[in-house]
Amino acid sequence: MITRKQLAVLDADDVLAPMRERFHLPDGVVYLDGNSLGPMPKATAARVAEVVRREWGEGLIRSWNDAGWMDMPFRIGAKIARLIGAPAGNVIVADSTSVNLFKLLGAALAARPGRHVILSERGNFPTDLYMAEGLAALLDRGHTLRQVAAADIAGAIDEDTAVVMLTHVNYHTGAMFDMAAITAAAHARGALMLWDLAHSAGAVPIDLAGSGADMAVGCGYKFLNGGPGAPAFLYVADHLLPAIRFPLTGWLGHAAPFAFEGSYRPAPGIAAGFVGSPAVISMSALEVGIDIALDAPIAGVRAKSVRQTTLFAELVEQECRGHGLVLASPREAARRGSQVCFAHPEAYPIMQALIDRGVIGDFRAPDILRFGITPLYLRYIDLWEAVAILRDVLASDEWRQERFQTRRKVT
Ligand SMILES: *Cc1c(COP(=O)(O)O)cnc(C)c1O
Repeated sequence: MITRKQLAVLDADDVLAPMRERFHLPDGVVYLDGNSLGPMPKATAARVAEVVRREWGEGLIRSWNDAGWMDMPFRIGAKIARLIGAPAGNVIVADSTSVNLFKLLGAALAARPGRHVILSERGNFPTDLYMAEGLAALLDRGHTLRQVAAADIAGAIDEDTAVVMLTHVNYHTGAMFDMAAITAAAHARGALMLWDLAHSAGAVPIDLAGSGADMAVGCGYKFLNGGPGAPAFLYVADHLLPAIRFPLTGWLGHAAPFAFEGSYRPAPGIAAGFVGSPAVISMSALEVGIDIALDAPIAGVRAKSVRQTTLFAELVEQECRGHGLVLASPREAARRGSQVCFAHPEAYPIMQALIDRGVIGDFRAPDILRFGITPLYLRYIDLWEAVAILRDVLASDEWRQERFQTRRKVT
């Protein structure tokens, strides 16, 4: 039996508790959607204002050099590298996760000529699957996207597999792959391994280099708190860089952008992964979020996440018994990222009713209530408040109200 008092004691002992002060969190809200859009760090508004007013407003075009704008994607990439177990020179910030997937998948297929399969998980995040489908259609050389269940991935890798593309933590269930084991299985069959870290970076310890991963992408606006639509990042391991061929050949991936040559020559190393001009203002916001993540040792973040996800799942089962909620995330913490999901046939209106009461999670079709657990700013007591409101919404049938039934554009 979990009690409110027990949770208050955990808060009093929480070494990460001071991190909460660094975020703006609206009154009356328990925010359980930081895995979809992280909240705003308090320092972000001032930093963005400075970039806009001083660097852009006063510095004008000089700021590409004088304010270090051109180096930002490398500088911030090096910071992200520390969060994902990668060497500093192998990560850059660029474009969106979707576009980076396209670039890396294209490079992977070019590096494994004669192989035709992009292997992924059925139920992977749609954009990962869609980008792979689109690339295969565009190339028109017989490539296919093969989707299998998570448990069947390792066994499905064969001599025709060019690249295994997986999201480390599944967006829908929170289930987490064993990165080292799957990467080793891919390599044993000569395939490349591409990890999507959208739900991992800033949330769980990652050892890209140690696991031998060949490529990775990740998202800036989820657990890294970089702001809506924040630029994404990409990683390529050293062994691939000398011969890498990206499918998008923009001027900023050129060896000498300001030579304005008439034909493309790739920049050396990871810089060939750039396409066009970096989103300076957005990157300045992203950097604030990343600096906060670097101040919180990931082992401590993971320990608190494991404790909070476990307590949240148990608390829902304790308080909401008999209302038809079924745990849809792995019960074993080691196999789970930093979210807890419950399935319920009326998940959509239940989530809308919860949001109306200030408990913000999200709905994922067809029947998932998804709760992101973000240890940098969530208190244990917040879990208690959230579950008390969930119990109320279910017990009172509040969610049956007409206004909670209509689906909006973003769920
Ligand atoms: C959130 C997410 C994305 C987002 O891609 P965008 O291009 O930023 O919209 C991609 N992949 C996964 C697995 C995600 O969870």
